This record gives sequence, C-alpha cells and structure tokens, in this order.
Amino acid sequence: MTYLKKRSLATQILDLIFPPHCLICGKKVSSGNVCEECLSHMELLKFPLIEHKGKTYFYAVTKYEGVAASIVKLLKFKRKKCLAKDVARVISNFINENNIKTGYVGYVPMLSTEERERGFNQSYLVASALSESLDIELFNGIKKVKTTEKQVGLSRAARIKNIRNAFEVKGFVNGSIIVIDDVYTTGSTAAEINRALRKKVDGNIFFIAFSRKMD
Ligand SMILES: [Zn+2]
Repeated sequence: MTYLKKRSLATQILDLIFPPHCLICGKKVSSGNVCEECLSHMELLKFPLIEHKGKTYFYAVTKYEGVAASIVKLLKFKRKKCLAKDVARVISNFINENNIKTGYVGYVPMLSTEERERGFNQSYLVASALSESLDIELFNGIKKVKTTEKQVGLSRAARIKNIRNAFEVKGFVNGSIIVIDDVYTTGSTAAEINRALRKKVDGNIFFIAFSRKMD
C-alpha cells in the first residue's frame, strides 16, 4: 500500500522531538494519527451496502459511533485535517476488500462560501488522499450550486425539496467513479448527486461514506 509513504526527513526530525500520538487515546503511534487499537474498536458495518439503483451503489463503511464518530468530529469541527488520511486508509481497505475498481474519485462538494467558513472540505481531503494512495484520478467536476439549509430536523419531503437541483456536474467520466462522503444520514444528498452525475458517467457510481448515522 502506498499510503504509508516514507516520512520526509523534516517529518522524521519532528517525530523525534514531538513523537506522534493517537488523536483518540493519546498513545504513541508509529504511523497515521489513530493507533491500531483505536481503529480495531471502530465498528465496521456488517451490511455496508445501503442501496443499489441500476449502476449506482450507496455504501457506508462504519457505524457513526465511538471512534468513527470521534474521528469525524475532530476532522470537521476541530480542524484535525491530518485525519483525512486515516479516513482514506479505512476507505481504501474497504475498496480493496470489496474489489471496487474505478478510474476516478470524486467527493461531495460544498459551496465556496461554506468551504471558506470551515476552511476546507473534509470529503475533498479524503478523496485527494485516496486519489494518491490508490493512484486514481481526482474528479473535481461535481459542484454545489445552491444554498441549502441544514438537513437535520427537516421532514423527508422538506429534505428532498431543500437539496433539489443543488448539484451540477462539469465534464464527463469515462468509466466508473467513487464519490466520497463523510457521513451518510438520510441519503438525500447522495441521491441528488446521483441524479446530476448519472448522465455524466458511463460506468458505475460508488458512493462511499466513511460513516453512517443510524436512525
Ligand atoms: Zn488510540
């Protein structure tokens, strides 16, 4: 696996002065930002395939609980951007185990105003790390074009209306694509991206969320 690249000399020196610690439990780690023990406590979903519509597959890898939920919260709200690589490693294992083959990896986009507010798009960071580790092309063509309200607390009908026409796709994907999301909740965002993306992809679309919030 190419994820565990050789650490640069500067990083190695920094590691000597400030040995890397697991961001969840604080123990020393030799690689990544989450130790093997914490990763082993993460609950992988027994049934990761949520839905299958034609040539589109919706997956989530972990249950949004414990370590997985902590990783997402630290990444999104505590700005621990380095955790994108650990998330990418978990997803990369999932892709290999399920023999998912694609030439492209995309991500759930944010509006530029939303991205400025947070400072980054976590799904982009994960997709970008995956593009590097799996040696597949990063697809930047999925764009968010409409302001949407937070989906939390909205009824199903209101959620669908809220997200309707929120995405556009620029360009065309010859082959199959993976689309990365951090948390799968109701599926309305993934369904709406699929609606916009389906006519621009001639192969399979694999939505892969790192974590799933169960109702
Ligand atoms: Zn740990």
